[in-house]
Amino acid sequence: MWKYIIIHHSATDGSYETGLNIIKNQEKNYGKNSNSNAYHYMITNDGRIIQWKPENVVVGHCGYDGYSYSSEPCNFNSLGICFLGNFEKYDVPQRETEAGLILIKALVRKYNIKHIYGHRDVISTDCPGKFLYAKIPDIEKEVFMNDWKKELLDWAVQKGIIKNPELHQNLDIPFTKAEILAILKNILERLKIDIGG
Ligand SMILES: [Zn+2]
Repeated sequence: MWKYIIIHHSATDGSYETGLNIIKNQEKNYGKNSNSNAYHYMITNDGRIIQWKPENVVVGHCGYDGYSYSSEPCNFNSLGICFLGNFEKYDVPQRETEAGLILIKALVRKYNIKHIYGHRDVISTDCPGKFLYAKIPDIEKEVFMNDWKKELLDWAVQKGIIKNPELHQNLDIPFTKAEILAILKNILERLKIDIGG
């Protein structure tokens, strides 16, 4: 049911108490059963995972509802994970990153997630902060790839077969026809073969 994970930051401090206060304030403003302005999970700076909303409900977390069948990330096709802290100002603590990775890995396997986005990929916002946003390609690599797949991708990049490794962090997704043609072109160019025509 979920295709994507969208990563947020809270732009607050990263404590467990702050996480609970975010929930309390949301319930005060939107009502106890509201799924507006919430996340499925929050992660604290000391590596604790707070499950806020059940995984099977659509939660308003990214400012764009979309549809469950949308190919672009939106509320209806994505799980929202908020890393507590302000990652526009400082880097993500290691324990928080590690806890986030464990959670994301589990969700990716459970739902066959295709891609991980930062909130700023969806709408115009600073969220999830430049430091956390910069980590997303590494998170994807870590989550989607076994070592042998990482080695294959590195080899293909080094050989010029694949030119945009950031587009291929999940090697379990089939290539499109255009991508296969681009790869073929890269190989022929590297071999300096002109097949004529
Ligand atoms: Zn956000």
